[in-house]
Amino acid sequence: MILVVEDEVPMRRFLCSALTSHGFRVTEAGTLAQAERAATAARPAAILLDLGLPDGDGLTLLRTLREWSTAPVIVLSARDREDDKVLALDAGADDYLTKPFGTSELLARIRVALRHARGQATADDPMLAIGPIAIDQARHVVTVDGTEVHLTPIEFRLLALLARHTGKVLTHRQLLNEVWGPGNAHQTHYLRVHMAALRRKLETDPARPRWLTTEAGIGYRLKDE
Ligand code: CA
Repeated sequence: MILVVEDEVPMRRFLCSALTSHGFRVTEAGTLAQAERAATAARPAAILLDLGLPDGDGLTLLRTLREWSTAPVIVLSARDREDDKVLALDAGADDYLTKPFGTSELLARIRVALRHARGQATADDPMLAIGPIAIDQARHVVTVDGTEVHLTPIEFRLLALLARHTGKVLTHRQLLNEVWGPGNAHQTHYLRVHMAALRRKLETDPARPRWLTTEAGIGYRLKDE
């Protein structure tokens, strides 16, 4: 069951019909109050969440939801609301879709979110594999197509963190907090420098990365497909 929270009727119809025609069951909400009721009653496997609702902010639902649910939340947002997306991701959203988007993009994001929710990798998993990249978390060894690549400790921590959340966008703040520690949340240039180094070591064409992708103004994502 997917919960679709969207107040614009044509958009909600599009989302519901795209999902049902691909085998998902859906329940829908047009207000924050309806969404809160539906999230509790239906226990959805994933939630599509518009942030601008007539009776409040979708972030309110996200924050209360995160107290009791790990269901993936994909935020629906207009292109010019970068700050909203970052706020939502920092508050526990799993991904975002920028309006307008097509059916195939919608379905791909939902598949990734559901897969991620089912088989979340953890710091305890000794091996993580993404395409040609293999990460041995215990031995701190990274290989690409079987060939060992030397990473600095910071590069290794950055890559392992992204790999534990494969497919999910991590914000600048989340990455900086986890890798460099609290107090470094604004040092986005650290990230730029180390991501560039990681791409040089891991990507076939570092200028057009296949795996380590930039989410402009928001963060980075390690793709898994
Ligand atoms: Ca809206």
